[in-house]
Order: sequence, then C-alpha cells, then structure tokens
Amino acid sequence: AAKEAGRDTLRYYTPDMNTQAMERLTLERDLRRALQDDPTQLVLYYQPQLDADTGRCIGCEALVRWRHPLRGLMLPGEFISLAERSGLIVELGRWVLAEACAEQARWAAAGLLLPVSVNLSPVQLERSDLTPYVRGLVQRYQIAPGMLELELTEGALMSEDARHLEVFNALMQLGCRFALDDFGTGYSSLSRLKRFPISRLKIDQAFVSTLPGSGDDEAVVRATLSMARDMGMDVVAEGVETDGQHHCLLAMGCTQMQGYRFARPMPAAELYHFVARLPQAQGAS
Ligand code: C2E
Ligand code: MG
Ligand code: MG
Ligand code: MG
Repeated sequence: AAKEAGRDTLRYYTPDMNTQAMERLTLERDLRRALQDDPTQLVLYYQPQLDADTGRCIGCEALVRWRHPLRGLMLPGEFISLAERSGLIVELGRWVLAEACAEQARWAAAGLLLPVSVNLSPVQLERSDLTPYVRGLVQRYQIAPGMLELELTEGALMSEDARHLEVFNALMQLGCRFALDDFGTGYSSLSRLKRFPISRLKIDQAFVSTLPGSGDDEAVVRATLSMARDMGMDVVAEGVETDGQHHCLLAMGCTQMQGYRFARPMPAAELYHFVARLPQAQGAS
C-alpha cells in the first residue's frame, strides 16, 4: 500500500522529502550502474531448506544482496522496492535468475543436485519476455524439471489479467515449480489459489515467530497444513529461529523448514559445504 501511495499521491514539497527523493535517485542511479557496468556488486546468498524429519537439505532460497561501493552490504529490504518502482527490477530479476541457474549448474557439476528457489517480483510477470528468458536459462544450464522454483507473493496472483495464468502455465511447461511466499499475510481466497499451479506454500515468519504458545498462530499453521494436503501442496515454514518453534512445527506435521535455527543465508561456496557436512550428506557423490 505504501508503494502505491508513494507513486500516486500528490506530494508536497518539504526539505525532508527532498532529501529522501535525492537519496532514492542516487541509489537508483547506483543500481542502474551496477547492473550495466559492474554486476559483481550483486551477489546471491542461499539459505538452505531442510526436511526436519530426515535431516536432509531439500533445497535453498536465493536471496540477493548488493555490495554497494560506499554503503557496504545492502539487504533487499533497502533496494527491492526502489528497483520495482524504477523498473530496474526487470534487469535485476534477470540477473538473479541467471546467477541462480549458473550456480545450480556449478553445484551439479560438483555432484550436488539441489533445487533453487528464486523470488519473482510481480513486475517481472508483466513482461512478456519472462518465459523465453527462463526457457533460455533452462536450456543453457540444463535445469531439470522441478529444480527451479519461483516464489511469488499473493499480490502477484491478485491480477485479473488472464495473461498471468498463461505465463504461469508456460513456465510450468518448462519445468518450473511455484511457491507462494509469505503465505497468510495476503488475502487470497482458496478459489483463487486453486487456479494457479502452486506446488508449495511458505508459511510466513509472522505465524512461526509466536510458536509455541500462540493458539491463534498454531491454528493458522494447522489450517494451512490441512488445506495444503487437500490441494496436494507442500508446506515450508519460514523464519524458524528456535528449538521450540522447530519442535512445535514438527508436532503439527510441518517438516519442511527454513530459518536461522538451521542456517542463515550464506554465499554459494558455504552452502555447498553446509550441505556436504549434514549427517545425511548429499554432497559430492
Ligand atoms: P522472503 O522471500 O520472504 O525471504 C525470507 C527473508 O527472511 C530473507 O530476508 C531471509 O534472510 C530472512 N530470514 C530467513 N530465516 C530467518 C529467520 O529465522 N529469522 C529472521 N528474522 N529472518 C529470516 P532477506 O534476504 O533480507 O530478503 C527479504 C525479502 O526481499 C525476501 O523475503 C524477498 O521478498 C525479497 N527478495 C530477496 N531476494 C530477492 C530477489 O532476488 N528478487 C526479489 N524480487 N525479491 C527478493
Ligand atoms: Mg522468498
Ligand atoms: Mg517469505
Ligand atoms: Mg518476507
């Protein structure tokens, strides 16, 4: 909502707003330069997703960081919405997709077959060239079906535009899977969800952080699990930080987890070693 307000509302001049606007323009210029001239400023971190039942790493989520020459390592919260507003997200999103696929191919060459999840902005879906772009990557990097998961938030499913559904289906034909990110924080109706080929729900951290002890959030998790089961979807809990949360989720039958309790997002080489060190080692075979 803040995003819309920022774009459409009449803005009154105040020195403070002027400073903010300047700051945003500067960052936008820096990001454009990084994308055009120095993509090494961008880096993907990967956070493992574990199956707590088996102890195996079942995948990882690619999370972008920006090594800004003056500001240091920046988190997506500091630049994704700016990238969306300025349209730079299209190019940034392409870079993220390409880098994640290239990394997966490097891991595969080293004997590690690991699904990678990539966050997609709704702005990327609007672009008709997303499907051919992903097709090119899948072919170039020999991405096997099911090995590339695209994460979308409920907002991306809100559009009434039938073309969106076509994009989803075309990407699915290429072997992509879809996860619904931050599940529970949006307003999607079940009937709407059913129209999309989603294979996994990611329970938002907000419902995990109060476990155990919050009856309401336990109820949300239980309802999500049972709904997902009925609809043939997997469920992964995000933001699992404590033993208590881990065991509460397990007791409710939610086994897929992602969070600081297991590992923080880390550079690609570290992720490779993290997986290789797991008791159920899946590393080089
Ligand atoms: P998200 O997709 O929901 O990703 C999960 C966020 O939660 C990540 O933050 C991750 O570092 C953080 N997290 C994971 N486990 C824990 C935990 O146990 N506790 C806490 N407190 N946090 C945890 P990050 O990397 O700062 O990313 C924030 C958001 O930025 C992401 O939320 C996603 O919406 C967006 N984002 C990240 N990378 C990309 C990208 O390449 N493209 C787009 N469009 N969005 C991205
Ligand atoms: Mg995500
Ligand atoms: Mg999320
Ligand atoms: Mg989030």
